[in-house]
Amino acid sequence: MSADTRAPLVDIRGVDKHFGDFQALKGIDLQIERGEVVVVIGPSGSGKSTLCRTINRLETIDAGTIAIDGKPLPQEGRPLAQLRSDVGMVFQSFNLFAHMTILENVTLGPIQVRGLKKQEAEAKAMELLERVGVGHQAGKYPAQLSGGQQQRVAIARSLAMRPKVMLFDEPTSALDPEMINEVLDVMVELGAEGMTMIVVTHEMGFARKAANRVVFMADGEIVEVAGPEEFFTHPRSERARDFLSKIL
Ligand code: ADP
Ligand code: MG
Repeated sequence: MSADTRAPLVDIRGVDKHFGDFQALKGIDLQIERGEVVVVIGPSGSGKSTLCRTINRLETIDAGTIAIDGKPLPQEGRPLAQLRSDVGMVFQSFNLFAHMTILENVTLGPIQVRGLKKQEAEAKAMELLERVGVGHQAGKYPAQLSGGQQQRVAIARSLAMRPKVMLFDEPTSALDPEMINEVLDVMVELGAEGMTMIVVTHEMGFARKAANRVVFMADGEIVEVAGPEEFFTHPRSERARDFLSKIL
């Protein structure tokens, strides 16, 4: 059961983050509803990764609050492990365990953190691997798969923890061009099925197809929030116009 079904699923209020003297996040406010797909874009160094990392508590925050499903982020211990399984994260580098098979990569969390029986975890993992199109690779090791296949395994591995929200931090930027779409297609489908997602990406086709809202960040701030068509055709801020003129 949700702690509070009226609260936004992700509720970020007044969040600041410093690294020494440098302020990477400045008063971030962002509420994300259940089933929403939010695409975060902005220049390199604008704080997109830092924002993602604060949401699953890979980084602490210096001010403000972050709540997931009505519950403030815990500081440590068992609640933190629970949070990490509520918030799935897929990074630019796939981070699969090299010495484990694809199937073992996907069953590890469910067995160790969620306490599933091996057989149960394997059945669920196979279902997810089929869903992302790599079921036939289950017995192989990560190095035997292409980058696009590994990233789809990484998505399946996150989904196996039954997260409430999925964070994607530039999930296709390390991939060869011909593999980008096979990963984005899985993400589009996931969004269409109702998964709540925060996606840092410069793939505008994906944003147009899948995003409910686009969040534009610059210099640690949210500068602009708009629907994808509106944002790409009529960016309001000078910084967004400047950024778009460089990437489009
Ligand atoms: P983006 O993902 O938008 O490119 P990041 O969130 O990675 O930006 O970084 C935002 C800023 O914070 C950058 O200037 C970066 O150098 C700085 N930063 C990020 N992580 C650290 C860290 N662990 N220590 C010091 N500075 C950091
Ligand atoms: Mg980044």
